Amino acid sequence: MVPEIRNEAGPVTGLDAGPRMPSRQGFLILAGLTAMALAVWLGGSLAERLALTDLRRSALSTLGLQVTALSAEMQRQSSLPLALATDPEIARVVRPAPVPGLVEGVNGRLAEIARATGSAVIYVIRADGVTVAASNAGDPRSFIGNSYAFRPYFQQAMEAGAGSQFALGTVSGRPGFYLARRLPAAAGVVVVKIEFDAMEAAWRAAGETVFVADPRGIVLVASEPGWRFSTLRGIDEGERQAVRAALEFGQAPLGSVPIFPSGAAPDLVRVGGGPRPAWPALMLDTLIPGTSWRLHTVTPIAAAVEREQVQGRTIALLATGLAWAALAAWLGRRRRMRLRLAEDSARREELERRVAERTQALSDANRQLVAEMEERRRSEAERERLGRELAQAGRLAALGQFAASMAHEINQPLAAIRSYADNTAILVRRGRVEDAAENVSAIGRLTERIGGLTRQLKGFARRASGRREPVRLAEIVRGSLEVVAFRVGEAGPCLDVPELDPALAVLGDGPRLEQVVVNLLQNALDAVAGQAGARVALTVEAGADRVTVCVADNGPGIPEAVRAQVFDAFFTTKPEGLGLGLAISRGIVEECGGTLTVTSGSEGTAFRMELLRAREPAPATTPATLPLEAS
Ligand code: ADP
Repeated sequence: MVPEIRNEAGPVTGLDAGPRMPSRQGFLILAGLTAMALAVWLGGSLAERLALTDLRRSALSTLGLQVTALSAEMQRQSSLPLALATDPEIARVVRPAPVPGLVEGVNGRLAEIARATGSAVIYVIRADGVTVAASNAGDPRSFIGNSYAFRPYFQQAMEAGAGSQFALGTVSGRPGFYLARRLPAAAGVVVVKIEFDAMEAAWRAAGETVFVADPRGIVLVASEPGWRFSTLRGIDEGERQAVRAALEFGQAPLGSVPIFPSGAAPDLVRVGGGPRPAWPALMLDTLIPGTSWRLHTVTPIAAAVEREQVQGRTIALLATGLAWAALAAWLGRRRRMRLRLAEDSARREELERRVAERTQALSDANRQLVAEMEERRRSEAERERLGRELAQAGRLAALGQFAASMAHEINQPLAAIRSYADNTAILVRRGRVEDAAENVSAIGRLTERIGGLTRQLKGFARRASGRREPVRLAEIVRGSLEVVAFRVGEAGPCLDVPELDPALAVLGDGPRLEQVVVNLLQNALDAVAGQAGARVALTVEAGADRVTVCVADNGPGIPEAVRAQVFDAFFTTKPEGLGLGLAISRGIVEECGGTLTVTSGSEGTAFRMELLRAREPAPATTPATLPLEAS
């Protein structure tokens, strides 16, 4: 079954010419049948022509053979009268009153010669026409005593020396050819009668239809006994009377030979009137040498022509049938090929259409993706901008907090400095220089501490740097502790900080990270504020690539409901809080390539800051002069 293919123009079922196929097939079959019929007809007529050509050739050869045989026979007999005419005994027998016994002797010799030569009769006629000696002398129907003066052959021989005639014997009633020769001194004529019975019988035995006709068209010798003395062409009554009068053929009716022209060719005839129905034949004729007679052969053609025609038609039928089958196969193949091509083309078009559709869809998707990416990039940039703004706002807010706590923090060292200064003046006046120097050193340390605090303040106010460089973790922790140290004390919470490897470095912006640690420590201290047994611990885990700083407390923890919001900007649970610290811290840690996460429970809260570990050593900075009171 041919699959249905759809294309732009609509459904194509099989070959485009599908519906036309039956009429096309019908036409092909009709054309094939017509061609076969034509070929059969042509083959038949060609075969007929070839068969006729063959038949003509073989009939011509038969004709030649028959003529040769007949003329040889006549030739053989024709020399006999000449030889006998010179015979002295025969010359004597025609004289009046021949010697007794001469006639009998001559008769015997003539009978002997006739037997030897196959002649029908040999006889001697006197000049007056009466037969005086004959080879059939002993026969009751002997010619002796008969007068043949009326016979043209006798008259011709007497006049011209030789004569011949085909005629019916008046005594024997048998037709024959009479050959006459004049005896010396015109004393008489010697005659040899040749009969053709044997030859006719031989023709019949061979199944050949042969006859000999004289110039008038009268058949003299024929294989068909009924044709003898018939005429090939009609003769008029006068001529018939003359023939009868000459006693040439007795009372023969001289009717027509039943041979009729067929009209197809001059030598083609139809033979009828016999026991067989009219049959087509080829009739050829030729002159018998030395005579005015013509020998005719009639060759039946029906069987040979039919045989050849059957063969020719069969061959033509087979050839045309094969050619038609080959043509039909070729046409079928071409049709299938066209069908396949049409299918392929439709399939290709369908494929191309689908590819175009898919390409279009992909292009659209790509455009949409690009637009979405652009949108995302824009919103990302916006988010970053907002983040930066937020960080800045957070820093400014924190600055306020710092300012308050700084003022509080600075007041203490300032009061201490004042106290140390007053005390130093007294000690100097009293001469206690050593103690005074000790006090001055204390004053120096206190001012250093105030300087550190103001540095932190400046750091908070700075915008994000995006810097990422190796910084020593120990220095970040120390800086952070300096900021929150004032909250840890005798009565305050306990802050655990381990001894850190001074070479351990992380990647990031040092002041920013310090700000994060400060924020985490302050939150932890806030959480445990006023709590008995309050404890805050800072721990560090150094991995191969990362370093984790964990700030844990044993405070109340963060309720589960708000745990996810602690990194949101402006989320705070503190009365004076801004809710910016953790949001800013996470931003800073992520800028440094790290992460900031929280875990919380009833035992407290732990913030984990994971940072990239620096491979190169960080440059050493001046260690903070403010002693840390790690407890
Ligand atoms: P602020 O400190 O101004 O409130 P933060 O962003 O630093 O802003 O903190 C947001 C909130 O997260 C705090 O108000 C507090 O409720 C909660 N929080 C932060 N750290 C802790 C902690 N260690 N224990 C309990 N809650 C905490």
